[in-house]
Amino acid sequence: VQRNPLQREFHQAVTEVFESLWPFIAEHPRYAQQGLLERLVEPERIIIFRISWVDDAGQVQVNRGYRVQHSMAIGPYKGGLRFHPSVNLSVLKFLAFEQTFKNALTTLPMGGAKGGADFDPKGKSHGEIMRFCQAFATELFRHVGADTDVPAGDIGVGAREIGFLAGYLKKLTNRADCVLTGKPLHLGGSLIRPEATGYGTVYFAEEMLNQAKKSLQGMKVAVSGSGNVAQYAIEKAMALGAEVVTCSDSGGTVYDPDGFTAEKLALLMKIKNQDYGRVKDYAEQVGAQYLEGQRPWQIPVEVALPCATQNELDETDAKALIGNGVVCVAEGANMPCTQAAVHAFEAAEVLYAPGKASNAGGVATSGLEMSQNAARLAWPRQEVDRRLLEIMRGIHAACVQYGRQPDGRISYQHGANIAGFVKVADAMLAQGIV
Ligand code: NDP
Repeated sequence: VQRNPLQREFHQAVTEVFESLWPFIAEHPRYAQQGLLERLVEPERIIIFRISWVDDAGQVQVNRGYRVQHSMAIGPYKGGLRFHPSVNLSVLKFLAFEQTFKNALTTLPMGGAKGGADFDPKGKSHGEIMRFCQAFATELFRHVGADTDVPAGDIGVGAREIGFLAGYLKKLTNRADCVLTGKPLHLGGSLIRPEATGYGTVYFAEEMLNQAKKSLQGMKVAVSGSGNVAQYAIEKAMALGAEVVTCSDSGGTVYDPDGFTAEKLALLMKIKNQDYGRVKDYAEQVGAQYLEGQRPWQIPVEVALPCATQNELDETDAKALIGNGVVCVAEGANMPCTQAAVHAFEAAEVLYAPGKASNAGGVATSGLEMSQNAARLAWPRQEVDRRLLEIMRGIHAACVQYGRQPDGRISYQHGANIAGFVKVADAMLAQGIV
């Protein structure tokens, strides 16, 4: 705390991982040697830079950009870029730390990183977004490379922004190699990458339910968010027979007791991805209830998929969900549940999956995009989806292996933390003190 003052989210993420690790390390003391734990919480490199750009009114705007390169122990730095006014060093350090374990869980050779800027894309014109991305790329290009650091999208950075960044990186470097994932298809992107985080989250929820002799078929599901992860979580949950009754954004929640249909989801995607509109507009158009300023967690459901942002589900929300009979919570977002919420779920024996396990399908498919780019070929949709499902099942199995408690119950929280840690820690120990 003294070394990283005021970094609340970073402390939260580290505490949550170490709560799982202490008993394991007590049984395996070699992991307490060589300053391993101290090294693991210190990012290998942090770059902070100025981004100056000119808005449509001719005014100069200044933002702060970051790239936190947390760990290269098992592969090139890998992790998304976030453009949101709440971005600061604490948020990006927590995300880069989590990313390191998540990437290890995929079993693909990727280190951990995260980056972004305190830029607010809301209300900006297409031209302003492009100029901002170009100004961001002007510094980013010095630090990325196919074998060094391969960023991707995150909140506020979707296919449009990745396209602008990729175009400018090519211009600056005179190279066409894969320095970003989540690229549009015609720039070397992978089929299924846009769907992967949402699909993977639902695959993971289904694996947990199957393990408990249940399934999503016929279950009521609450999804939060309405961006990339939420949209494809809704699609896959419907495909597996669930009824999705909510979505949200930072303005409020849509509650539709009749549930999503393919037509309604297509409308939500159009409003969010083409018109850059709000879920309030969507609620009006489909005649669903709009709960201004509220989150979806008071609505009775059996499955909750938080897919918006960190700390969007607190202890009160968790208790409301538990009271309403929730059986499964799988995080599509990164750290959406507060620590108190997680403790409440675990105490109530709700199946709970931390994001580093359940949302790892996005970065896993980014890893598959890197493989396709390196081989200069493109796999068909079914092939990528098959590999995604296989990877999610592998992560589930690793959580079960490391998360089995003395009473036979599985803590996915402990399982994911320990399984990710073991892979990174073994690689670090093998490489000496660096
Ligand atoms: P998008 O920008 O596509 O969507 C974000 C959604 O979350 C929007 O509905 C947004 O609403 C909402 N949201 C963002 N900030 C807040 C806030 N402070 N309060 C309430 N709602 C908010 O992002 P993604 O879908 O890509 O990312 C969502 C989450 O999933 C993030 O935690 C991200 O780190 C995580 N994730 C994403 C991956 C990916 O592949 N994209 C991979 C793994 C994890 P609004 O429009 O009002 O801001």
